[in-house]
Amino acid sequence: MRRVSIFGATGSIGQNTLDLIRRDRTSYDVVALTGGANIPQLAHDAIDLGAEIAVTAYPNRLEDLRAALSGTGIEAAAGAEAIADAAARPADWVMSAIVGAAGLEPGLIAMSTGATLALANKESLVTAGDLVHRTAAKHGTEILPVDSEHSAVFQGLIGEDIASVERITITASGGAFRDWPLEEMAKATPEQAATHPNWDMGQRITIDSASMFNKALEVIETKEFFGVAPRQIEVLVHPESLVHALVGFNDGALMAHVGPPDMRHAIGFALHYPDRKDLPVERLDLARIGQLTFKAPNPDRYPALRLAWDVMEIGGMAGCIFNAAKEKALDAFIDHQIGFLDMADVVEATLNKLAADSCLINAEMTLDTVKQTDHLARKTATEIIATRG
Ligand code: NAD
Ligand code: MG
Repeated sequence: MRRVSIFGATGSIGQNTLDLIRRDRTSYDVVALTGGANIPQLAHDAIDLGAEIAVTAYPNRLEDLRAALSGTGIEAAAGAEAIADAAARPADWVMSAIVGAAGLEPGLIAMSTGATLALANKESLVTAGDLVHRTAAKHGTEILPVDSEHSAVFQGLIGEDIASVERITITASGGAFRDWPLEEMAKATPEQAATHPNWDMGQRITIDSASMFNKALEVIETKEFFGVAPRQIEVLVHPESLVHALVGFNDGALMAHVGPPDMRHAIGFALHYPDRKDLPVERLDLARIGQLTFKAPNPDRYPALRLAWDVMEIGGMAGCIFNAAKEKALDAFIDHQIGFLDMADVVEATLNKLAADSCLINAEMTLDTVKQTDHLARKTATEIIATRG
């Protein structure tokens, strides 16, 4: 029996993870499940899978969670500290699938117990890549990528020498507005941005896909995960979302990972690694699909993408600032305070303002300094948003 915990269990990645666990219940012992406001889902899954503890991020929902779990013997808890405590419970495999920078701390704590970390929360590596790597090295923890592109690259690198890698290409669907005129994109609503042509994901990552902030985060994640130079990373628009990434080697070979747009592949790969096991995903019929198309992203349509290379060049805390400003800009867009294309302006202005402070950028990276920088970047972005409202 493997002991597993799922952070962000009620979300899109979390539910896909539970789907795989349910198909093979006898192999897993569920330790902790965490969620947010969806108490019925959290309680249902905790009872169904016999979890030790269920935690909601919201302290004001603790009573609801307790009521939903009463008589089951399952512990109920609430708040960020309770999530951190749950991450300290011994487990063999932990899924990090909370959305946003809030996912960093539980992941670090889980790693420090020695659990294998299945990392969907890309914000962890963007915000504090150095700290994540140091924590993993200190405790001998394995980190397995769950982002589909990074899982694809990871699979393409098995048995290879990273020194023979020339480039890593990650693909982007182009998001909800890939065929819209630029003037229309400026007027796009959160509701329009929250529909994805190929993938079924949480609201925030879906909007980030339309703006390509998601791809910008993934470019930085690629650098942090595989240790390649920024100039070795490339993004290709691939509307079919079937080739997830390509690894280019120094002999001219390109290894492409092709698979259906179903996160259960990447999650299942991380769950069963180093083995491969049968997964309930579609088998692609390439003859029926007929053709795959690729094109270079148009920088005018996706200003967020360019910022990824700025962030990597600045280094240090720039990723933390970038992510925190992006989270604030996204909140403001969802609240109809700023337009779709304003998000990149807000993030760039925040980055420019704070990157001028070299003490801030080059501060020693600890959980405390990361939290302080994250807080400052959110405050700065909020001020910049206010001047635009
Ligand atoms: P989601 O919005 O569907 O779910 C997010 C989960 O996090 C929920 O359980 C929610 O309750 C919880 N949560 C939200 N805010 C929280 C907070 N402040 N503290 C604690 N818990 C909180 O998101 P998702 O689409 O499942 O994405 C989760 C992570 O995985 C993100 O980092 C995303 O970028 C990454 N990811 C998602 C996909 C996908 O297909 N959905 C693909 C690749 C990577
Ligand atoms: Mg991805």
